[in-house]
Amino acid sequence: MDVSRSTGSAGGERALVVGLGIAGMSSALGLTRAGWEVQIIERAPDRRTGGYFIGLSKEGFEAARYLGVVDELRTHTPESYSTWEIDRSNTRRRGMSFTEQPNHPEVVRRGDIELALWSGIEKSGITVRFDTVPVTIGSNADEAVVRLTNRTTGETTDEVFDLVVGADGVRSTVRRLVFGPDSEFTEPLGRIICAFQLKEPPPETEPTDGLIIAEEKRALWIFPFSDQPPTALFTYLPDNVDAQFRMHRGDALRHAYAGMMGDGVVRWALDQFDQADNYLFDSVVKVTMPRWHHNRVVLVGDAAWCLTLYSGYGATAALHGGATLGKLLTEFDDIDLSLDEWERAVRPFIRGKGGPTALKSQLFVPSNRVAFVIRSVLLTYGVLPRLVRRIHWRQRVRAKILRRLFGERADAFPFMTPESGR
Ligand SMILES: Cc1cc2nc3c(=O)[nH]c(=O)nc-3n(C[C@H](O)[C@H](O)[C@H](O)COP(=O)(O)OP(=O)(O)OC[C@H]3O[C@@H](n4cnc5c(N)ncnc54)[C@H](O)[C@@H]3O)c2cc1C
Repeated sequence: MDVSRSTGSAGGERALVVGLGIAGMSSALGLTRAGWEVQIIERAPDRRTGGYFIGLSKEGFEAARYLGVVDELRTHTPESYSTWEIDRSNTRRRGMSFTEQPNHPEVVRRGDIELALWSGIEKSGITVRFDTVPVTIGSNADEAVVRLTNRTTGETTDEVFDLVVGADGVRSTVRRLVFGPDSEFTEPLGRIICAFQLKEPPPETEPTDGLIIAEEKRALWIFPFSDQPPTALFTYLPDNVDAQFRMHRGDALRHAYAGMMGDGVVRWALDQFDQADNYLFDSVVKVTMPRWHHNRVVLVGDAAWCLTLYSGYGATAALHGGATLGKLLTEFDDIDLSLDEWERAVRPFIRGKGGPTALKSQLFVPSNRVAFVIRSVLLTYGVLPRLVRRIHWRQRVRAKILRRLFGERADAFPFMTPESGR
């Protein structure tokens, strides 16, 4: 078989990005800004749309700005809203919403981020080949040779690139082909998630209010948007994770949530699931790697560092990682040096954001009786929301004083917190 090698349009470097998700599109735009010629391959036959609730933090918006797509990024943060915890006696108590975290994330859907990035991809004229996957990848210090297959036509080609970016998600093929088996880098957390868009808000709930029903080993979260129906997230710890995938999804959920009331909202949400146009049903897996690049192959996003949904930072990290890759390839002429510097720059961010994930996962869905009781005291009975509101209040007062004293220069202080993620 012939191996095709072409140089970039300006005789520059040529990259293959595997995966058309947030990490893949961010990396592709970053590389294009750095003067590279980029091709994206995507396993799916079309670009996916829609998606679940995402809290996007300021680093995500900064990356989107760098990539030139921030103005295309639609947000749906309700202006004012409450989140209610419903306990076993069907009583609703004021809880803490996802956006009340100290980093003030903005509410978007995954599809909003992908649409904004897609507009950049279209403007840049980057080639996207759907239905296409890598089958083998060989790399040395100078190049990577990739065998690509079109899944419909079966056409196979060998192509040479200066860099391959594996942005193909938590169960990455690039990682497996180049770095080693999943078992070396992935940690299954024994949890299932099912996320989907509701057709309407739950009964007796304001359209922009959130709901949380959390028991030991199972929880249902309803995330509100300012201008469209909420999304639901079932998250639970089954006795046997694999068995969940052998069942009809609706049956698996009904079995896991049997007897859970939540003021009638659980049954209502299960019925909504039956009508959902599309959904995500998956087990939760964490990815940790000692090194994200090898020769001319680099992993970005969930493929490299999946922090899990509980961190609330996966999308932000995917944008940040892709944009930073492009930035550093602009700064240094040497590709190897750029990759080393990129890893040095991004690792502390990932370590910092991934750190509290174990604790956050217990707030999402407590894994045992003790965690359930602690969570109830902290959240249902208002200790944590009061604490966080107090922190917000102090942040606002401090920011006001510093802006009075130092004007706009105060914004450069590292401990200044933005009014919102944006
Ligand atoms: C329910 C839920 C809620 C979340 N909430 C938040 C939140 O509040 N805040 C936040 O920041 N993050 C959140 N996240 C995490 C965030 O969505 C992910 O971290 C982020 O979308 C990962 O993007 P990615 O591009 O790395 O991977 P993916 O989105 O998985 O994209 C991978 C792409 O690669 C393609 N692909 C896969 N294999 C191949 C192959 N062999 N060849 C070619 N293409 C391939 C896939 O089809 C896909 O298009 C949440 C996640 C979930 C599931």
